[in-house]
Amino acid sequence: MKKYVYNFKEGKASMKDLLGGKGANLAEMSNIGLPVPPGFTITTEACNEYYNKGEQLWSELIDEIMEKLTDLEATTGKTFGGGSNPLLVSVRSGAKFSMPGMMDTILNLGLNDEVVKTVKDITDNERFAMDSYRRFIQMFSDVVMEIPKSKFERVLDEIKEEKGAKYDTDLTASDLKEVVEKFKSIYKAEKGEGFPQNPKDQLLLAVTAVFRSWNNERAIIYRAMNNIPGNLGTAVNVQSMVFGNMGNDCGTGVAFTRNPATGEKKIFGEFLMNAQGEDVVAGIRTPQTIEKLSEINQEVYDQFISVANLLENHYRDMQDIEFTIEKGKLFMLQTRNGKRTTAAALRVAVELVEEGKITKEEAVLRVEPAQLDQLLHPNFDSAALKKALSIAKGLPASPGAASGKAYFTAADAVEASKNGEKVILVRLETSPEDIEGMAMAKGILTARGGMTSHAAVVARGMGKCCVAGCEGLKVSEELKQFVANGKVYKEGDYISLNGSTGYVYEGVIPTKEPEMSGHFATLMSWADEVRRLKVRTNADTPKDAEQAVKFGAEGIGLCRTEHMFFSEDRIAAVREMIISETVEQRKVALAKLLPMQREDFIGIFEAMEERPVTIRLLDPPLHEFLPQEDEDIKELAKTMDIEFGKLKARVESLHEVNPMLGHRGCRLAVTYPELAEMQARAIIEAAVEVKKNKGIDVHPEIMIPLVGELKELEYIEKVVRQTADKVIAESGIKLEYLYGTMIEVPRGAVTADEIAKTAEFFSFGTNDLTQMTYGFSRDDAGKFIEEYLKKGIFDQDPFQTLDQNGVGKLVKMAVDLGRKTRPDIKLGICGEHGGDPASVEFCHRVGLNYVSCSPFRVPIARLAAAQATIKEKMGEYSQK
Ligand code: ADP
Ligand code: MG
Ligand code: MG
Repeated sequence: MKKYVYNFKEGKASMKDLLGGKGANLAEMSNIGLPVPPGFTITTEACNEYYNKGEQLWSELIDEIMEKLTDLEATTGKTFGGGSNPLLVSVRSGAKFSMPGMMDTILNLGLNDEVVKTVKDITDNERFAMDSYRRFIQMFSDVVMEIPKSKFERVLDEIKEEKGAKYDTDLTASDLKEVVEKFKSIYKAEKGEGFPQNPKDQLLLAVTAVFRSWNNERAIIYRAMNNIPGNLGTAVNVQSMVFGNMGNDCGTGVAFTRNPATGEKKIFGEFLMNAQGEDVVAGIRTPQTIEKLSEINQEVYDQFISVANLLENHYRDMQDIEFTIEKGKLFMLQTRNGKRTTAAALRVAVELVEEGKITKEEAVLRVEPAQLDQLLHPNFDSAALKKALSIAKGLPASPGAASGKAYFTAADAVEASKNGEKVILVRLETSPEDIEGMAMAKGILTARGGMTSHAAVVARGMGKCCVAGCEGLKVSEELKQFVANGKVYKEGDYISLNGSTGYVYEGVIPTKEPEMSGHFATLMSWADEVRRLKVRTNADTPKDAEQAVKFGAEGIGLCRTEHMFFSEDRIAAVREMIISETVEQRKVALAKLLPMQREDFIGIFEAMEERPVTIRLLDPPLHEFLPQEDEDIKELAKTMDIEFGKLKARVESLHEVNPMLGHRGCRLAVTYPELAEMQARAIIEAAVEVKKNKGIDVHPEIMIPLVGELKELEYIEKVVRQTADKVIAESGIKLEYLYGTMIEVPRGAVTADEIAKTAEFFSFGTNDLTQMTYGFSRDDAGKFIEEYLKKGIFDQDPFQTLDQNGVGKLVKMAVDLGRKTRPDIKLGICGEHGGDPASVEFCHRVGLNYVSCSPFRVPIARLAAAQATIKEKMGEYSQK
């Protein structure tokens, strides 16, 4: 017969699947000889069986529980439900992963009108007996019977008021007796019958309630948010009670073995005397810091400290501990690895290595890569933040914090920041024309758009703080103002944004800059020692490139040339190039762009030094560059010396119905080879110049976007190589460069063996590849992906975490096909996924050479890459 109930003595820490986290650790603590009140655990399998049986306990299980209860009576020398020395128990839920708010614990179970009298007699403490009973009635009614807690709290408050008692500890035995009577009548009024007097019924009802709580709404939401499977089930722990509420030589408390906010190696905790259970955290009285315990009972304090040290050494991690003191004797009630801030996680991990308790590799695994994000952006000063007035809340689209004056057009934002203002760009939504304004702004606020809107994606790329989709704002770009909470904010008014929380504030809040030093730097150096994947960055400007190098980037995986085309001084020449109707006209325009592009690349090569730099030729649909307003068309007509009407007609003729699938990517270079020629020339001339003048051994990699057919790549190759080789030959120096492609069209992935004949490298453009594999427009998907997530059709947004089963299969196929043709082909990924830890692990697994991500995610990718290597060694990939 299957065993469903385990004594604490029968379990151990590694049995979390079966016994839940709390049960497994209670067992472990019992077995290493710590003072744990004895008890038993009903397994998670029993919970699942309860559901299989149509939400019923079954007789074999009940027998097994009763058997273990009899053992417990023997161990404690007490009897459950009566006798001269009654046994009281707690009933505690505990799943494999701790799930706050799933179910509240029931304490003092086993009390009834008779038993409470015996408790009073043997302890000679009526106050304690009544205090325990009123707590039990309230918890049982709330947790098992779903009678609102507030009904009981109201009664308690009334009696406190009536008796002039400030705290519950000021209530006397007879006051509490009154409370108990009133609580019983609440129960009767609610349930139509008296409070259950049979302790065995109480116990089985409580066990059932714990099982049921696994599927309550809070639990389901919590699991969905944290990716916890719904089929794990919860265990139930039944444990003999110890009492912190017997008087002033009793108490209860919680402690961390190190400071969970800073990581400092110093015990951090709080306790309350004459209290029970959650009193410390519930805030009914102000607790004392753990050090004060030494003044009350030095011996217990010393014992507690040595137990805390023992537990930390045993688990080799910072512990979060619950304890109770009963008449001067210490009992341990829970231990688990403590939750901590990122700063604390880094410090604890590094110091545990220095103390010789864990290895460097273990330390690297102890920090969640995504958590690092907190440390990589400026933050508001926390004291100042408390005083700030929040005026709206939107989506936390790109982390960081910024204060500045509100401006409502990109042009105004550029102008103001040139005049030395700190600017927040406020828009209904942003578009590619706003790029320069966004680049100059300290932060971006939009009223529309989701987490994958233009504003959000571009801001994350720039590492700039952004609050998007702030629907409470009424933005008028025309009036240059917005309204929030009925108040009007005008151009030039100061506002502050927190892109990590989505809050918008009035006025200026001081910020702190991020730095990568101390424990952070140490842990990252250990990560670098083990990882196999290289980490590059996506950077379009020397400034971004420098930032990325500071964060450890080993190259540029994606330099987008179009971002350079949007700036004010170039857009005219770009438009001229697009509008041109003849090759000659186009060449004139391109000649204007050449020196500017060359300058851009010189800056980037210098910033990256000998590290490889992948530059992508022009990619976006041309219509993004075109003038929309008649006024702009007029101006352009003047510079180009053409008639307005003719130009307007030309602009209209370039309009595309579906630009994302239109005239973009390598299709531009195929139709306008002179464009590819100009860009190749600018890249190679810049490389030659930097190599000659600075003696830097630059490594340019020229990348063709959106290739789906080998012949596209071959056609452009002729143009690029002829140009590049000529420039190199004329320079008289040696320079090597690579010619390769993005794999971002499904056909490109499927025919990767052919494409690898020409491509010396592949870079997986997983944004477009996701877009085209699913047939989702990335610009519109925000609207429905939200629903997909809510309805459980997607576990994750495929634009944030790579869809390994679908898109990933194409990647894997292209890797294998590419290597078959060209064994030494260089393989990388660029696009948002390059900085997502789960996707990085995937990239490691399929054997890419590098990932590339925005500068601010470089440290995240480095850590994720290291973890992937270590997990591979341990044979332990996370099953996602
Ligand atoms: P949670 O999972 O919310 O922390 P717990 O099951 O740990 O809930 O219990 C809630 C509170 O009751 C804790 O303060 C715990 O220490 C206390 N408690 C639980 N079991 C006992 C017991 N047998 N004796 C005394 N206090 C207990
Ligand atoms: Mg607890
Ligand atoms: Mg693309």
